Amino acid sequence: SADVVPQAPEDPLFGLMAAYRRDTDPNKVDLGIGAYRDNNAKPWVLPVVKKADEILRNDPNLNHEYLPIAGLADFTSASQKLVLGADSPAIKEKRVTSLQTISGTGAVHLGALFLSKFYRPNQQRTVYFSDPTWPNHFQIFSNVQLPYLTYPYFDKETRGLDFDGFINTLNNAAEGSIIVLHACAHNPTGVDPTQEQWKEIAKVIKERKLFPFFDTAYQGFASGDLARDGWAIRYFVEQGFELVIAQSYAKNFGLYGERAGCFHFVTSPTSDADSVTARVASQLAILQRSEISNPPAYGARIASTVLNNPELFAEWEANLREMSGRIIAMRKALRSKLEELGTPGTWNHITDQIGMFSFTGLTEKQVLKLREDSHIYMTKNGRISMAGLNTHNIDYFAKAVDKAVRE
Ligand code: PMP
Repeated sequence: SADVVPQAPEDPLFGLMAAYRRDTDPNKVDLGIGAYRDNNAKPWVLPVVKKADEILRNDPNLNHEYLPIAGLADFTSASQKLVLGADSPAIKEKRVTSLQTISGTGAVHLGALFLSKFYRPNQQRTVYFSDPTWPNHFQIFSNVQLPYLTYPYFDKETRGLDFDGFINTLNNAAEGSIIVLHACAHNPTGVDPTQEQWKEIAKVIKERKLFPFFDTAYQGFASGDLARDGWAIRYFVEQGFELVIAQSYAKNFGLYGERAGCFHFVTSPTSDADSVTARVASQLAILQRSEISNPPAYGARIASTVLNNPELFAEWEANLREMSGRIIAMRKALRSKLEELGTPGTWNHITDQIGMFSFTGLTEKQVLKLREDSHIYMTKNGRISMAGLNTHNIDYFAKAVDKAVRE
């Protein structure tokens, strides 16, 4: 009977959102969930998404039939070009197989499930996550019974990358281990390796015969430049790795609830690429069919409309620059306000970190105090969603932080 089902804890992030919604204070600030907000703290429908929506709604041939198991072909092929670069040899050589998924989470899950079934069966295959990482990584890989460990990532002293710890752990990881890497705008820290550091990471992963698993949820959203944010993945592909990529369109298209994403498997150029790709695709199709049958159409149609039209694509890039630009401006403003106030500590990490989040270094006690005294909501690890800050609340926030740090 269901009597044996124990009570599970509430998801911390979605619990935080609910607490924020219940709070009736007019000055409340939501810095929890990673969703873009405009300067009035409102969700932003990208203008280019509105246009694509118009185009779709006026299409007399639009219907609600099932998509194929692998999803909308125009969407998955445009997704390959976006993540790997339009002239990627891996695409030309047909070394990539892609399936549309339930956003980035579904892509991570499909990748984890595929690896659990077909990657080094009956051999050691530990998964390594950065410490810290997006907490859902732990749950998704546990669900498919893959054992995991972590590699050092965030250096609490410098609030930057613990590069030596990272490399040292890779050097000591057992052959065949799966290394989950955030392609850009690391969640939750906002700390990314430099290109030189990525090269070193790739070198060790190759030497140690490890398997790269890229999670890319912020391409274009981080720096406003799609190629720059895609650099690490493209570099690894250039180095000839066999690897997988979980791609989300939640943030960069603002399509959070539409669940548009893509999973890519890239075979190495030395393999019998055609045959490997075909066999991998056939197995992924069976997994997809049994899990979701076929993916949801609407979000993929929106993204596909934009990705496949040069004019709309250029407009999307401008929308991306607007979002990333506002976030970068908020980073600068927050740092300078804290420095003006003389808030104890150093605050350069606010502008050094990139993407949606900043790992402020605030302690759990300070975080709870900010919630109680100032109605400011952030996760207990001191992570703030930069998008929740705007020209109306940044002074209030900086002053509240200053007070909490001094207490
Ligand atoms: N990976 C990381 C690192 C993320 O930050 C996110 C978004 N929070 C995702 C994957 C996937 O999100 P979604 O399923 O909404 O695309």
